[in-house]
Amino acid sequence: MALATRPSKILCVGRNYAAHAKELGHEVPKEPLIFLKPPSAVIGDGEPIVIPPWGGRVEYEGEIAVVIGRSVRSVSPSDAWKYVSGIMPLNDVTARELQKTDGQWARAKGFDTFCPIGTPVPLGGRDPRDLEVITRVNGKVRQQGNTRDLAFPIDYVIAWCSTFATLEVGDVITTGTPEGVGPLVPGDVVEVEVVGVGILRNPVVAGTSAPPPPVSGRA
Ligand code: ZN
Repeated sequence: MALATRPSKILCVGRNYAAHAKELGHEVPKEPLIFLKPPSAVIGDGEPIVIPPWGGRVEYEGEIAVVIGRSVRSVSPSDAWKYVSGIMPLNDVTARELQKTDGQWARAKGFDTFCPIGTPVPLGGRDPRDLEVITRVNGKVRQQGNTRDLAFPIDYVIAWCSTFATLEVGDVITTGTPEGVGPLVPGDVVEVEVVGVGILRNPVVAGTSAPPPPVSGRA
């Protein structure tokens, strides 16, 4: 894993690009829609994404993420970047059918290997309102987005998350995916590039994990 430490939490924003919200049949929410991915889902560049054999369709979501460098609570958007040590590509891998049927997304977003994270680099002189993210599957471009199209800009998302949770050193906040999500199958290679920042590349392999057992006495 390229992160210096395992995050205590990975905070994610749903439906932050209007065109992606629309492709899934939703409006952009009135305020950021936050969910969590578990630290146990994190893998690094080059490590395989494992597709569970019983989890239905699994999709990539190329995103721009930040890692927290200094602990903070209730930060303002104008100060938010002072607490960020790096930006990087992240793939918010999602079991799309389970996401729809489960209601809560812990399982759909939380399988082992469903959170590939690239190597963080400092923001430096880059403009956070003009960062480009591109997702490729087997070399073909599937998603292309720019942070200028975010419903809630990155500094606002950081501030929003810090209103209810202490952002701890090493925590990751990922900022939503643009339109063009689609399936991953064993044998694919998926790349998420944040232009001028870095590329996260992961092969996709078939898993062998068993499905949930029948509930005792109810099967
Ligand atoms: Zn996402």
